[in-house]
Amino acid sequence: MYEDLEKKVVVITGAAKGLGKAMAERFGKEKAHVVLNYHTENGDHKEVIKTIEAAGGKAAAIQGDVSKEADVKKLLSFAVDTFGTIDIMINNAGIENEVPSEKLTLEDWQKVIDVNLTGMFLASREAISYMLDHGIKGNIINMSSVHDRIPWPHFVHYAASKGGVKMMTETLALEYAPKGIRINNISPGAIDTPINGEKFNDPKAKQEVINLIPMGYIGKPEQIAACAAWLASAESSYVTGLTLYADGGMTKYPGFQAGKG
Ligand code: NAD
Repeated sequence: MYEDLEKKVVVITGAAKGLGKAMAERFGKEKAHVVLNYHTENGDHKEVIKTIEAAGGKAAAIQGDVSKEADVKKLLSFAVDTFGTIDIMINNAGIENEVPSEKLTLEDWQKVIDVNLTGMFLASREAISYMLDHGIKGNIINMSSVHDRIPWPHFVHYAASKGGVKMMTETLALEYAPKGIRINNISPGAIDTPINGEKFNDPKAKQEVINLIPMGYIGKPEQIAACAAWLASAESSYVTGLTLYADGGMTKYPGFQAGKG
């Protein structure tokens, strides 16, 4: 636990399930004030709010599509109206779909780039602008993926978006370091969330993924939430522009294990 996170205002996109939910709940345990963005009106965010409040944090939620500029502006205004400021912006919302690249439509390409890259840019820009106007030495965390460096056939739009997020993070980190705004990137490997539901329900497909992980197991959302809490806390106060690979060693060329190669 990080005492300095208490009462910090944290905005998290895509916070009703998966990694966003785990981070929202972790910041609830830190007794932060959490603003959840959710995309789909199915009520899932209400459970997350209850968990945060039960842990001693505060929470509020607003629906929105991160690829729409007006929705992103509304999200940030909602955070300020509800809890008075913005200290930490976590750009988590993301989508993927498998398509061989020669069949990938412009529409599919554009949708993934719009949500995964443009959405993270819009919320970063809005948060930075707010922090600059109010002299806040804030914190931005983007959720990239090991596919910001591991090529991924059939997911070219996803890999391109995540590569873009990594370079966007590094560029913004450099640009705003003099203002004390820290901007970092978390790149998870394979984590047990709904995005992987279908794949991990198939034992063969799941084992194929595990074979790519030197630590030998699929990561848990709480392990990624722990990285976000550390990056948001003062314990990482000299860290900016980092891409933190939380991947059980997936980016370390597992094919070379045990003297192979
Ligand atoms: P998930 O599918 O469980 O959750 C994604 C969330 O994003 C959902 O809450 C969804 O409603 C939201 N979302 C989708 N489109 C949106 C939009 N237009 N506007 C606002 N919200 C939207 O997936 P997850 O595993 O929790 O993924 C979270 C992030 O982590 C994504 O950026 C993903 O690319 C990244 N990631 C996940 C893994 C993994 O193995 N789970 C690995 C690497 C990176």
